Amino acid sequence: MIPMYEPLIEKEEIDAAIEALEMKWLGMGSYVEKFEESIKQYVEASDRYIAVVNTGTSALHLGLILAGVGHGDEVITPSFNNIGDFQAISATGAKPVFCDIDDKSLFIDLEKAEDLVSPRTKAVIVMDYGCMLGDHDRVEEFANKYKIRVIHDAAHVFGSKYKGRMVGSFSDICMFSFDPVKNITCIDGGALVVKTKNELEMIHEMRLIGMGQPTTVMYKNQRAWTYDVRQVGFRYHMPNLHAAIGLAQLKKINVITESRRFAARYLNEKLSQISEVTVPETDFDDITPFLYYLRIPKNKRRAFRKHMHSQRIDTGIHWQPGHWFTLFKNCRRGDLSVTDIVGNEIVSLPLHSCISVNTLDRIVHAVESFFLGKKL
Ligand SMILES: *Cc1c(COP(=O)(O)O)cnc(C)c1O
Repeated sequence: MIPMYEPLIEKEEIDAAIEALEMKWLGMGSYVEKFEESIKQYVEASDRYIAVVNTGTSALHLGLILAGVGHGDEVITPSFNNIGDFQAISATGAKPVFCDIDDKSLFIDLEKAEDLVSPRTKAVIVMDYGCMLGDHDRVEEFANKYKIRVIHDAAHVFGSKYKGRMVGSFSDICMFSFDPVKNITCIDGGALVVKTKNELEMIHEMRLIGMGQPTTVMYKNQRAWTYDVRQVGFRYHMPNLHAAIGLAQLKKINVITESRRFAARYLNEKLSQISEVTVPETDFDDITPFLYYLRIPKNKRRAFRKHMHSQRIDTGIHWQPGHWFTLFKNCRRGDLSVTDIVGNEIVSLPLHSCISVNTLDRIVHAVESFFLGKKL
């Protein structure tokens, strides 16, 4: 079976994990500082501040709190987004307001978002899907016009560049995920990139159940026993073990980027020949693809996935839109016609770091055999 995802876990990650365990400082410590420094350097965010946490969803939750989102507020988000985003909004006591997406980029439709802004709108979440980048200059204009904060969910685009600038170096508040399936993993983890030292210090306290414990002490694998508690906090810090694995992954980012870019280009070239299939409209320049997806006729999706499964190829659905779920059925929304179409047509194919041409050919042939009736 070709799985949807396959983490690139090799000797380096295993050695790093052993080293971190043998250090016997299992909580937040020196590896966390090193991981943060390495990410900051890699995403070229020298004028920003970065903090890692235990998951991407926690990063979103803290990012929303930093943006001033609280009980009774509204956050505009594409309905075509990860459930973690909706739950992070809900966790603040605010409500998601569902916006449509652009048919090509699958990025939030900012024209439609204008109609959704209310006096309660505190922030907008923008998310780059799969292997596509949105128009982040327009996001900034939008946020300035309505004086709202931006949470950039960059979980899919770690390593990508927008107009020559690394993702993570230009947004108001930027969030990454390093969960088991993302471009780089630290088993579970997330990061926030923020503009001010004050915001960084707030994250430092919030991720450690509100303890005003100096991070400089923790990063020496020590702890202070006296401190103040000034704000609400959570147990969201990243343990040393995870940071050590993340560091080992980050050292391979060039291999990860190049192999995924090659694979996505290969699939695009072959699969764009099939008239019933719509492939991502990008040449993948400056992109580290996370998810490779197709849009296919909605009445064929079930049979297509069954066919792929019979050829021992896993496929996925990312995602069912948020407004389809019971929990969010009463949330305010605008026109979601594109989201409803995409939600029924989208299907994701396996994409791994260092995936072989052999495996890619198997995937291509299976797709071709379904749509073109080619013999396998
Ligand atoms: C993975 C993901 C998240 C959540 O991150 P976790 O680390 O799994 O909590 C949020 N948004 C998007 C777009 C994601 O893909």
